[in-house]
Amino acid sequence: MDSSAKIRIEDILNRVELYRPDPDEDLLRHAYVFAANRHQGQVRRSGEAYFIHPLTVAWMLAEMELDEVAIAAGLLHDLLEDTDTTTEELELEFGPDVTRLVEALTKLSDFESSFTSREATEAENFRRLLLASMDDVRVILVKLADRLHNMRTLSFLRPDRQVAIARETLDIYAPIANRLGIGSIKMEMEDLCFRYLHPKEWGRLEHEIKDRADAAERWFAEIRGIIEGLLLTNGIKGTVHGRVKHMYSVYQKLRRQEVDMANVFDFLAFRVIVETVGDCYGVLGLIHQQWPPVPGRMKDHIAIPKPNAYQSLHTTVLGPEAHPFEIQIRTWDMHKIAEFGIAAHWSYKENGSGAGSEDSRISWLRSLLDNSEGASPREFLDSIKVDLYPDDVYCFTPRGDVFSFPRGATILDFAYRVHSEVGHTCVGGRVNSRWVPLRTELRNGDIVEISTSPQQQPHHDWLNLVGTNRARSKIRSWLKREEKKRAVEVGRKLIEREFRKTGVSWRKVSGTDELKSVLSSHGLSKEEDLLAALGFGRLAAPAIIAQLLPQEDEAAEDEVLTPKREPSTAESQALEVTGDADFLVYVAKCCKPLPGERIVGFVTRGKGVAVHSRTCPNVKNLMYHPEREIEVRWASDAATSGASPNQVELDMVFDDRSGMLAAISQVISAEGSDILSCQLRTEHNDRGFGAMTIVVRDAEQLDRILRRLDNINGMRRVERRGQATARA
Ligand code: MN
Repeated sequence: MDSSAKIRIEDILNRVELYRPDPDEDLLRHAYVFAANRHQGQVRRSGEAYFIHPLTVAWMLAEMELDEVAIAAGLLHDLLEDTDTTTEELELEFGPDVTRLVEALTKLSDFESSFTSREATEAENFRRLLLASMDDVRVILVKLADRLHNMRTLSFLRPDRQVAIARETLDIYAPIANRLGIGSIKMEMEDLCFRYLHPKEWGRLEHEIKDRADAAERWFAEIRGIIEGLLLTNGIKGTVHGRVKHMYSVYQKLRRQEVDMANVFDFLAFRVIVETVGDCYGVLGLIHQQWPPVPGRMKDHIAIPKPNAYQSLHTTVLGPEAHPFEIQIRTWDMHKIAEFGIAAHWSYKENGSGAGSEDSRISWLRSLLDNSEGASPREFLDSIKVDLYPDDVYCFTPRGDVFSFPRGATILDFAYRVHSEVGHTCVGGRVNSRWVPLRTELRNGDIVEISTSPQQQPHHDWLNLVGTNRARSKIRSWLKREEKKRAVEVGRKLIEREFRKTGVSWRKVSGTDELKSVLSSHGLSKEEDLLAALGFGRLAAPAIIAQLLPQEDEAAEDEVLTPKREPSTAESQALEVTGDADFLVYVAKCCKPLPGERIVGFVTRGKGVAVHSRTCPNVKNLMYHPEREIEVRWASDAATSGASPNQVELDMVFDDRSGMLAAISQVISAEGSDILSCQLRTEHNDRGFGAMTIVVRDAEQLDRILRRLDNINGMRRVERRGQATARA
């Protein structure tokens, strides 16, 4: 029913009575009168009374066959926001259930309007939407109806608002509707968005379809007649619908050049709805006998439902005059789920006939949220988009269980789908009996057998190998756990050693109130967290001891309070650890990498993250501990800020001739560097050796100096100390 048609409360009550034998008529009438009163005098941009809006939303909810609480919430959903009605009032009038829904919806729209950055709005808003609906999926359903009606009446807004709202709807709400299986809302939203986002294409397409309306009608009638005949002669009860495909899908197919504008059949779709699953396959057989199927176009979504629980048989046949056209075959139950998705499940459950897959839908929402912890809004939005556009890949276990994945998922994702332990220890697998490595992408129909090894464990690189949020979050949490475990061990050793020096044992202190107050002074709640902080180098053991044993004499206290070697702040400011850990970062003494140089970080025992040059000889040894490796990078302004001049030691071998020292110092000063110290030595074979300390800004400047020194006539070798391999 369109918003322009007058909906009356009687219409809604009659609709509800069709699916609920004894509805709470009082609640609905009361909500109707209450909302009508409060919205009295308010007018929408269309010039209509505002109340038309909540009324239409309520009607849509009745069409979805939701309960009276949801429908009442639909009637009342804008009261807290747009009138001076209070929560307390609602609670008093309608009880806690309805009020809770309205409150959740109000919070949602507060959120929508309080963000200025679109990216942040979309992601956060969406996350909020999911959060709010966690304990009640009805919040999402009311929200979708609300948005759909706003889309229907979009033409009254300013053009820029139209585009913005249509964009958001297409990016966020239509995908939610799709993921929740609510095909009717998804398609209408998409068509409306299409109209506002691509008005020209929309107009052209509408024109094309209108032009072919007569031809379409004739074909509908002819094909419907044939299929109805088939049903009748074979004693199958069913109905046949013909329709023009929804515009947005035609548009998308046009763009992929899967559609020929001139061919009316490309716009048509037929649907046969029957009573039983057996009838579905029966009808499929009859149709394939009537018209030959197009090979490769038959899809059995009954045996393998889509992730949103959609079920149907799809086939394309060569119809009259060899025109190919599509037919969908499904039962009435499947049809209801295709139209109303989770709402259909929800109302089934309410009626006591139970449907387990709502739980899986809810758990999908939950997993989406769990996995979004710590991700930036952009990441979150991207991950939602991956998950929401189910360009899915279906794979099988050797036993024939089916798993679906987003495109781009790998063997490793499969392993994590089986079980997180299987994921953690996965070393590869067999796909269709052929051995393949972890990063192998899954393809439709693959039969996957995972191989594990008890020696295997997750690695940072794995985060780039997986395509599902589920696997990524499992890996991330494993790495975090391990990192913390190690930090706790290290921290325990550090504090125990420090305590031994004082003659007091850590065990004595452990669990005491004094320790508890020290913990809370650092904002920590558990001893384990303190040990981890020590292990990560965020806190220093001597300082903790000083806090715990303040009666020590002052000289000693002074000593322990002074950290032996604080990493310089200039250094650590120039460096960033990528990822989420807030580590203390310092430049390794062995190679002292320069800004701009290729670097790698290693988690040290208790001192934070040491940053080495990639070419540092020590890195080779550290590579045996890949679990300690952590990605680091130079802060974007590290090289240019010149905050910390870096001392670099150079070793040179040259022919001992006059003017050599002058040539060397000339090059260095010409490149804007200074010599801090210089030692020269000659041997009797006329070979000279130089050791110099110079000051440079970054790796680039050093590189230029080295190149120019190398070019000096008589220079035999020049290198940075300890990095013979750095320059070939
Ligand atoms: Mn509204």
